[in-house]
Amino acid sequence: TKLVVKDGKCLGVVVYDLATGQIMPVRARAVIFATGGYGRVYSRTTNAYINHGSGIGLAYKAGVPLRDMEFVQFHPTSLLGKNILITEGARGEGGYLVNNKDKRFMADYAPSAMELAPRDIVARAIKTEVDKENGFDNQYVHLDLRHIGKEKIKKRLPGIREICINFAGIDPVDTPIPIQPAQHYSMGGIDVNEKCASRVEGFFAAGECACVGVHGANRLGGNSLLETVVFGKISG
Ligand SMILES: Cc1cc2nc3c(=O)[nH]c(=O)nc-3n(C[C@H](O)[C@H](O)[C@H](O)COP(=O)(O)OP(=O)(O)OC[C@H]3O[C@@H](n4cnc5c(N)ncnc54)[C@H](O)[C@@H]3O)c2cc1C
Repeated sequence: TKLVVKDGKCLGVVVYDLATGQIMPVRARAVIFATGGYGRVYSRTTNAYINHGSGIGLAYKAGVPLRDMEFVQFHPTSLLGKNILITEGARGEGGYLVNNKDKRFMADYAPSAMELAPRDIVARAIKTEVDKENGFDNQYVHLDLRHIGKEKIKKRLPGIREICINFAGIDPVDTPIPIQPAQHYSMGGIDVNEKCASRVEGFFAAGECACVGVHGANRLGGNSLLETVVFGKISG
């Protein structure tokens, strides 16, 4: 519930024990936060419910500087209304993004890369199409896998097929997937150096709650787990 900082030095934390409801002070020579990102401040996000940025907020309230909080990544394809990520793999296997005019609209935004353009470009393109009333129900576009064929979908994208059947009641083998962009990753966070040290002595942060700055303004897919492993080890 609190990061205790006095005279520029971290002295410990005050914790709330969820199991017992007890609030306890914990004195420590070093404190490391690994509390994840702040995706849940957005109404649509692929993040878990706990990722509402409380660790980052506690640090800020204790006077620890934050950095790059405006750098927020949106994933282009989450299942409509469910906040479930539909992996890039679906487009990697050849999936098309199609608007209500039955057009592969990425031709207007990224004619070479098409559906495989970077996340921010594809997410912005979908939002633009919906704003131009080229979406369905003014909310979403289609991710169409039908041309890939049943055998390949079953072999290469079984998880995506299962998600669609279980959570949307559709089979992508014969029905396009309704998708919309959703917040996915927080590049900003507690301002730390390459040793995970914040500007408050004795206070460290690692993982998505931290901002070492390795992702710049737009993380590349796959680099977050790498970051957690590398900087988790360094901070520990
Ligand atoms: C659907 C999805 C798919 C992804 N796929 C990939 C991928 O393929 N490759 C990749 O590199 N990255 C991927 N990412 C990103 C990556 O999973 C996350 O960036 C990474 O898991 C963050 O790890 P973390 O340990 O920093 O934070 P989290 O995994 O978010 O863990 C934070 C922990 O802190 C706890 N916590 C939070 N607040 C508090 C508090 N106030 N007090 C005490 N505890 C607290 C939480 O309960 C949780 O256990 C994906 C993310 C999502 C959502």
